[in-house]
This record gives sequence, structure tokens and C-alpha cells, in this order.
Amino acid sequence: MIFKKDFPYCFDENACQNCGGKCCIGDSGNIFASKEELKNLREYLGLSEEEFALKYLKKVGFKMSFKEVEFEGGYACIFFDPINRNCSIYDYRPMQCRTFPFWEYFKTHQQELKKECIGITYLS
Ligand code: SF4
Ligand code: SF4
Repeated sequence: MIFKKDFPYCFDENACQNCGGKCCIGDSGNIFASKEELKNLREYLGLSEEEFALKYLKKVGFKMSFKEVEFEGGYACIFFDPINRNCSIYDYRPMQCRTFPFWEYFKTHQQELKKECIGITYLS
């Protein structure tokens, strides 16, 4: 169980095994990665900058986000593995994914988080 200071909930990471990857699918959204994260992932995938950008990235404002694909009536991150229902680049997933569900946004959007993540337990 993971607790984080100032968050009104804790998170059981074992829940991910029974979840089906809900935080990687559903409504459309952006999955941002830093330049360094993108470089590391690109090298891991063995692609040129151009190939990597064309296949996996979209520009959102001044940032780069992973593309999404249509999936089960909604969307999935392009790196979501639909067979195993988990992240296909787990060791290279960006900080945005690593820090979920401990996002500032969810401190004040608890119902939304409760619907999305089965690993959450609210404290008292
Ligand atoms: S939604 Fe929660 S339980 Fe499901 S995979 Fe994501 S973090 Fe794990
Ligand atoms: S990078 Fe991995 S963990 Fe992050 S949204 Fe995509 S599939 Fe999910």
C-alpha cells in the first residue's frame, strides 16, 4: 500500500493485476513525456527520431504526447498492450504514468478517481 503526504487516499499497486489497465484507456487524453524520457524510449525501441515521432507522438501545444488509438469504443494509449492489457513499455513509461494516481488534480476530483482506479482507498 502506498501513502503520499497530503493525499486523502492510499493506493494498492497489486490492484493493477486485476484492473485491465483502466488508467491507460477510456476517454481521450494526453500522455506527456519529457525530452529525456522520449530519448530513452526511442533508443529502447531502436528507432530514428523521425520514425519514432511519426509512429508514436503528437504535438500538443509546446509539448509532445503519445498518440492514442481507438479501443473498445474509446481510446487507448498507443503503448497499451490490448492482449495483456498492460503497458508495453512499462520500464520506460513517463513520469505522468509513474505518478498516477497521485496527481494534484485528483485531490479535488475524488469521485472521478474512484471510478477510474480500483486500487484507491480513501483515508477515514
Ligand atoms: S487504474 Fe489504478 S488499478 Fe488500474 S492499472 Fe491504473 S493504477 Fe492500476
Ligand atoms: S505509457 Fe504505458 S502506462 Fe502510460 S498511458 Fe501509455 S500504456 Fe499506460
